[in-house]
Amino acid sequence: MTIGRRGFMKAIAGAGALAMAPRLVQAEAQVARATRAMPSPRIKDISVIECEPSGVRLTVVKITTDQDGLYGYGCATFTQRADLVRPAVEKYLKPFLLNKTTDRIEDIWQSCYDSSYWKNGPVLNNAISGIDQALWDIKGRQAGMPVYQLAGGKCREAVDTYAHASGAEFEEVVDNAKKYRSQGFRNVRVQVGLPGMAGYGSQHKEEGRPKALHDKPLFDPAAQMRRALKLLEICRRELGDEVELLHDMHERLTPNEAVQFCKEAEQYRMFFLEDPLPPEDLGYFRQIRQNCATPIAMGELFNSPHEWQPLITEQLIDYIRVHVSQAGGFSPARKIATLAEQFGVKTAWHGPGDVSPIGHMANVTLDLVCYNFGIQEYSPFNEQTQAIFQGCPEMRDGYLWVSEKPGWGIEIDEKEAAKAPFTASSLNGGWGEVRLRDGTVIKQ
Ligand code: MG
Repeated sequence: MTIGRRGFMKAIAGAGALAMAPRLVQAEAQVARATRAMPSPRIKDISVIECEPSGVRLTVVKITTDQDGLYGYGCATFTQRADLVRPAVEKYLKPFLLNKTTDRIEDIWQSCYDSSYWKNGPVLNNAISGIDQALWDIKGRQAGMPVYQLAGGKCREAVDTYAHASGAEFEEVVDNAKKYRSQGFRNVRVQVGLPGMAGYGSQHKEEGRPKALHDKPLFDPAAQMRRALKLLEICRRELGDEVELLHDMHERLTPNEAVQFCKEAEQYRMFFLEDPLPPEDLGYFRQIRQNCATPIAMGELFNSPHEWQPLITEQLIDYIRVHVSQAGGFSPARKIATLAEQFGVKTAWHGPGDVSPIGHMANVTLDLVCYNFGIQEYSPFNEQTQAIFQGCPEMRDGYLWVSEKPGWGIEIDEKEAAKAPFTASSLNGGWGEVRLRDGTVIKQ
């Protein structure tokens, strides 16, 4: 039986509840007044800031709102195809988003993601990341809080990192690792050059190139395996047991070689071995797991949930290493971290030089708010980058510290950015090829 509004009012009056009504009305009026005083910001303009400090192409999306002085920045850096991100933002996302409210970050992410019908590609994901992170920046500036507060607050005080210690010869790598240790770093990624060949992550001596059927950059997987295992042996002996050792194989071995390498590296008690396989060979992670306990980090080349989901849910890796803008930004990265936490996998977001400082601040924010943080890759910010991006995360004793300013806490000096435009080069930032002795091109 229904009693209707008049009957309901009579009933609560009888129960003495009517005395509450004036106060409720007053509260509602206050909310209405507050809402009128602070209408939701709307997207007035979207622009793309491109710059190349010290030779690295960086792309940032700026969203300007219809409220005075309220704007935000998001990282959309895809160095190797940098010229393609701007049109993806300006020709497709901008007309789709103009005049929409900035309040609904998740809704905007989902609708941008779906608007291309085909999805999960690197160019479009970076364009969406630029929008997503700019909206988080705006929300932080509105609230007067850094983004980490909006995401639940800190799980830790600062972010433990690893530095890149590399060299053409073993001694140089050890010396560089000792230098970083003296600066407070507890973790070092070690990479050594292959004489005469294009190894990954270090310089190499020109002499010593083996005979090959071409004159392009050369690589020999067997030589790389021997050299890297020797490096780990030397580093463990020279640097002692307390330092954490990391190494990046950069997806360059065959699946069987990768299984062998991980098995033999087990004795050196690594923090993690990175990218033993390319995304095309994910099934072989089961074989690595079945053969050894070397901790595995994987994922910097991933763009799609179909790539990271099976590795996490089958517990085939120890660290998920997604490049946040390549996965679509801060919002999807939080979901990856939450999924990983449920399966005992930790985070180690990709943090090379070709991430803008906005992207690095997003990484550091995730590192602080996610319980299952593992480690953060560290790349120093050079002088020109810091002149453009004012307020980069600070490095102290091997730890990165987040900004305590609202949003990401970074302001971009667009005049300084204009002094470092994208430069013309034969490959426009794309990578050249590396080939085996017989001329076969390799994945890198
Ligand atoms: Mg890597």
